Amino acid sequence: MTEPVFDKEYTDTLVVGGGQAGVAMSEHLGNLGVPHLVLERDRIAEAWRTRRWDSLVANGPAWHDRFPGMEFDDVDADAFAPKERVAAYFEAYARKIGAPIRTGVEVRKVERNQGRPGFTVETSTGVIEAHRVVAATGPFQRPVIPPIAPEDERLVQIHSSEYRNPRQLPEGAVLVVGAGSSGVQIAEELQRAGKSVYLSVGPHDRPPRAYRGRDFCWWLGVLGEWDAEVMKPGTEHVTIAVSGADGGKTIDFRELAHRGMTLVGRTQAFADGVVTFEGDLADNLARGDANYLAMLDAADDYAARNGLDLPEEPEARRIPSDPACVTEPLRELDLQAAGVTAIVWATGFSVDYGWLDVDAFDDDGKPQHQRGVSSEPGVYFVGLPWLSRRGSSFIWGVWHDAKHIADHIATQRKYLAYHEATKCQDTPGAAESSTDDTSAERVN
Ligand SMILES: Cc1cc2nc3c(=O)[nH]c(=O)nc-3n(C[C@H](O)[C@H](O)[C@H](O)COP(=O)(O)OP(=O)(O)OC[C@H]3O[C@@H](n4cnc5c(N)ncnc54)[C@H](O)[C@@H]3O)c2cc1C
Repeated sequence: MTEPVFDKEYTDTLVVGGGQAGVAMSEHLGNLGVPHLVLERDRIAEAWRTRRWDSLVANGPAWHDRFPGMEFDDVDADAFAPKERVAAYFEAYARKIGAPIRTGVEVRKVERNQGRPGFTVETSTGVIEAHRVVAATGPFQRPVIPPIAPEDERLVQIHSSEYRNPRQLPEGAVLVVGAGSSGVQIAEELQRAGKSVYLSVGPHDRPPRAYRGRDFCWWLGVLGEWDAEVMKPGTEHVTIAVSGADGGKTIDFRELAHRGMTLVGRTQAFADGVVTFEGDLADNLARGDANYLAMLDAADDYAARNGLDLPEEPEARRIPSDPACVTEPLRELDLQAAGVTAIVWATGFSVDYGWLDVDAFDDDGKPQHQRGVSSEPGVYFVGLPWLSRRGSSFIWGVWHDAKHIADHIATQRKYLAYHEATKCQDTPGAAESSTDDTSAERVN
């Protein structure tokens, strides 16, 4: 698929990153006959192998969290694939489609060529020229710990991306900051391991794991919510608390509290060994309940309108009583007095495009694009949250976004091929040679 141009290697489309987004790009580019190369600095699906905690399973069932072209061969369709199985799935998928992925190669710099088309790409193993570059380096590149984190060497502080298992933390209680899918799963695992846990809960959605015999992934699909193109106003900072752990169950913060976890509001500040929390815990839980109940209503409505014969589940509407930590919320905590020796920051990630030196970012450094087609011609983004819709950063969603981007690339190639063909039409044989994939697109 690639060929040297002078002392450099040339490819039409260079995909940076060999996670699920890079594999999906390769499938669609290959189907459209676009010569391409995928560079991955580690291994295929590295994030699933080494940047997640040991017990993580997929958040969606195996029938849903996969690409259309292949099922999981050793995970029951309704079960939640362990992270190693997810990584093995993408490795097998890449093999099946014959994806030209080169692993162990880091892309260090991409620059637009001056006075000629394409980009010069510096990698850890040499320079490559590419007509187009697709950034598939993931939605969660740089762990974010907020600046309020205390400088206190008595505390072990890690980001959720560094958390592996409870044995990693010192004896003593733990404060987990952030109660999205990562924070709540880590907090529960720590509690099960016998630790005293404080969980700082911000605004969140908590869909039912399953309702009336159907997983929430199915409900979001039939209700059209995965396809939502814009976030509902005011939900920009709302995390989603959902888990496939223990066979999959609905996240219920009050249940966790009734089992001994101390829920607190959003973490506000640290001073002199004391952490303060906002007084928003009850509101955040109420908002999570409202989101949960709204989904049950939408599901009931859908079932009624479509005459679906699904078992009624009235008990799903039972909300447990408020535990004491909700009715009398803790607003401050002396960490040493409470025996807190560790903080896990489950506070999310940001992107890092330091290697992509092109004019495709806004003043805040955010990629400027429309469905992944960036403002810099020839540069594409894939895998980002809400790239085209709610499902964009998830396994099944990225596959569809990658298809759109590959279509765009193939269309651009046709324009160029036409240009080459008509430019050279007086030269005998030129039109034939210009239809050849590589010669038509060669960067000169
Ligand atoms: C804890 C957690 C659980 C999740 N669970 C689910 C789930 O159950 N279901 C679901 O659908 N989604 C889930 N997601 C969301 C999403 O599916 C994953 O984050 C997924 O890994 C994103 O895939 P990606 O290919 O876009 O990015 P990544 O998997 O991060 O892949 C990007 C790749 O690019 C490589 N790379 C980066 N920079 C360079 C460079 N300069 N040169 C070369 N290579 C580079 C990296 O090594 C990496 O392998 C989860 C996310 C998290 C954080």
